[in-house]
Amino acid sequence: MTTPALARAEQLIATIPDFPQPGISFKDVSPLLADADALRAVTEAMIDPFRGSFDVVAGIEARGFSLAGAIAVAAGTGLVPIRKAGKLPRPAAQVTYDLEYGSASIEMQQDLPEGSRVLLVDDVLATGGTLAASRKLVTELGYDPVGLVVLLELVALDGRSICGPVESVFAG
Ligand code: AMP
Repeated sequence: MTTPALARAEQLIATIPDFPQPGISFKDVSPLLADADALRAVTEAMIDPFRGSFDVVAGIEARGFSLAGAIAVAAGTGLVPIRKAGKLPRPAAQVTYDLEYGSASIEMQQDLPEGSRVLLVDDVLATGGTLAASRKLVTELGYDPVGLVVLLELVALDGRSICGPVESVFAG
């Protein structure tokens, strides 16, 4: 449901043409995160579809970390990071996935009780590869990925065809 606070929050997402490379239209959520009312509104909107169904939030590097922190505190859960390969001191699993050009690897530590219900969080859903790989990582470590949620879904890129069902607060 769109509220005035959410409508205002959406206006705070900036679109930066040709960043970080020509042809990419970069969605910058930093102005939204910098606004207390907007941050609170999107945090609650990201929790709503999953309220009571998750034990922990997994934030995906890097902008997913900020949203995961807000969601975890508001929902009363903990959080864990999913990071690019080589950043975590005790990685327990790694998944490699295809990018438009080349590939990327992400890692996660085994810091949760087995079977923990994990809500996966990122800022933007583009092609869906990152969320699909993150869900695989969570499953490989014996956790239960109960949901995927993003702030903004780039609908034209059809990321859902790769990552499956996902909740998004905004569509662009
Ligand atoms: P993808 O795996 O293609 O769905 O890409 C999602 C990841 O890349 C997320 O972590 C986003 O932060 C980032 N990303 C991809 N495309 C964009 C974009 N146009 N604007 C901002 N972030 C993006």
